Amino acid sequence: MKSGKINVKTENIFPIIKKFLYSDHDIFIRELISNAVDATQKLNTLVKSGVAQVELGDTTIEVIVNKDDKTLRVIDKGIGMTEEEVLKYINQIAFSSAEEFLEKYKGADSASIIGHFGLGFYSAFMVAKEVEIITKSYIADAPAVRWTCDGSPRYKMEQHDKTERGTEIILHISEEDEQFLNEDKIVGLLHKYCRFLPVPIRCGNEKYWDKPEGEEKSIELERPRIINNTNPLWKQAPSGLTQEDYLKFYRELYPMSFEEPLFQIHLNVDYPFNLTGILYFPKVKNQLEMQKNKVQLYCNQVFITDQLEGIIPEFMQLLHGVIDSPDIPLNVSRSYLQSDTAVKKISSHITKKVADKLEEMFNNNREDFEQKWDDIKVFIQYGAVTDEKFYDRIKSFYLLKNIDGKYFTFDEYKTHIETLQKDKEGNLIYLYAADVDAQHVYINAAKERGYDVLWFDGFLDTHFINMLEQKLEKVRFTRVDADIIDKLIEKDDVQVSKLSEEETKQLKEIFDNSVEKEKFTVKIEPLNETDLPIMLTRNEFMRRYQDMEKLSGQKSFYSAFDHYTLVVNGNHELANQLLHEIDTEKQAILTKQLVDLALLSQNLLTGEKLSEFVKRSVGLLRE
Ligand code: ADP
Repeated sequence: MKSGKINVKTENIFPIIKKFLYSDHDIFIRELISNAVDATQKLNTLVKSGVAQVELGDTTIEVIVNKDDKTLRVIDKGIGMTEEEVLKYINQIAFSSAEEFLEKYKGADSASIIGHFGLGFYSAFMVAKEVEIITKSYIADAPAVRWTCDGSPRYKMEQHDKTERGTEIILHISEEDEQFLNEDKIVGLLHKYCRFLPVPIRCGNEKYWDKPEGEEKSIELERPRIINNTNPLWKQAPSGLTQEDYLKFYRELYPMSFEEPLFQIHLNVDYPFNLTGILYFPKVKNQLEMQKNKVQLYCNQVFITDQLEGIIPEFMQLLHGVIDSPDIPLNVSRSYLQSDTAVKKISSHITKKVADKLEEMFNNNREDFEQKWDDIKVFIQYGAVTDEKFYDRIKSFYLLKNIDGKYFTFDEYKTHIETLQKDKEGNLIYLYAADVDAQHVYINAAKERGYDVLWFDGFLDTHFINMLEQKLEKVRFTRVDADIIDKLIEKDDVQVSKLSEEETKQLKEIFDNSVEKEKFTVKIEPLNETDLPIMLTRNEFMRRYQDMEKLSGQKSFYSAFDHYTLVVNGNHELANQLLHEIDTEKQAILTKQLVDLALLSQNLLTGEKLSEFVKRSVGLLRE
């Protein structure tokens, strides 16, 4: 048997870092600025703890673009590096000083140091053909050094005359990456990744002005304002913040959004992991408003991503705001983030917090909660149908709304309808309407019997109802137009038919002859004399199936199958009149008129058919 050490050649590893470490070239700026911030924060820690006796001064990080000599520079006034430190931290790839630093200065706030892997600096080589580091340590007598490397594993190091404390990284941008010499582009990237970093950052544009022969060129720097907000709201203590502060921060995050959020959750967790953030609840009423990619993920105030698929649950992506955790690794790749266990824990913790907040709102101010309900219902339904645990958390305060605008919890509603809306098998029947105007006739029929009708007009309702039928015991949901009301809630008392069997058959024939057979099934039912003479109903199961298909955009056999039942009240006086009409022409006209009335009550009479109906009605009135 043999054992040994695998030999890694730097010649091989360099191109790998350059090409594959980060899928996105843009992030080199994030890495370099993070290092500059770390260096500044480290110095802060040393000064605070008395280890370093230096004047901090202005520690603004400068990013300078120079199109003439094709360089991009990042200059910090942080801790700097001695020659040994450059040898140790820069020359050894994948050697980060972060852990060493934290170990040494136990008091340091671990959450404020971004670096971890010791790879970030090398991302500079993704866009630069040569990189220089000019650095001077905060240690007074340590000379400054200049380190250069052209992307091969060879470096050069020499002393330098830099007198200011801190580090300057100079990237000599490669030809194919000259886009990074565009100041607007860099400002855009800084705005994206570094917008909330704790050390001020400024981006300038350096120009050389050509002077007459003999004179030295002069340099001018245009200095725009500080790019970042160094103390973002989510890092502040919630107790000192007002609702107006939260709204202001929302506008800062989403300057293009006109809608205000409904409320927010300020997250502040320090055990078992570190997490801060603010999640805003937007108004979500329909599919169009289901905008994702609005939650931004940060690691120590460094923007990581707003593409959160697979990182937080789908329904949580409907929220807006920021999540910040040092426990989320500055990602190398998306799949890495998704499989990270810390990320998974964070995700379920956030879900729990959101449910807690909703419950607290329900308990503290029910009236206010009801007022917000219509705007948050979709979010809650989405969560409940996709995440069983979330359903379990919200089921005690989920609100059912009836057509009179009253809200009930599941328990309350059960008590509300228990005595009346029970069928003979002991099932509770939850009646609902999706369109209060279009289904008016059916709602009335239900109300006449003292039944309550729920209002389900949301686009996720059908899914939600399907789920509820499985969760709630002995409960069946049915839309008011799914059948005649006495069939929807069947009681023991059977209506007696006034028609003989023969007459019933005859009546059915009359109607069969005046409707399209593939679209309508005719049924003669012995209803109350005072009920409507004719009604159109639509099978609950089929309709739900079609609704779900519409939502998912799929089509199947059922899609084309718009089938209705034409229910004729055999006990109505008009049924009797029709049967005994000797004039067959008149009989046909009356039948058509009745069928059209039924169609009309389902909003199905349009176009030519509607014109015919109007004409026929006028004719009938004249008689
Ligand atoms: P990481 O940031 O993950 O630690 P890097 O490869 O980016 O890894 O950097 C390696 C080390 O180099 C850092 O831990 C730090 O000690 C040192 N370093 C990098 N940039 C700077 C800087 N601007 N000022 C001081 N030290 C730096």
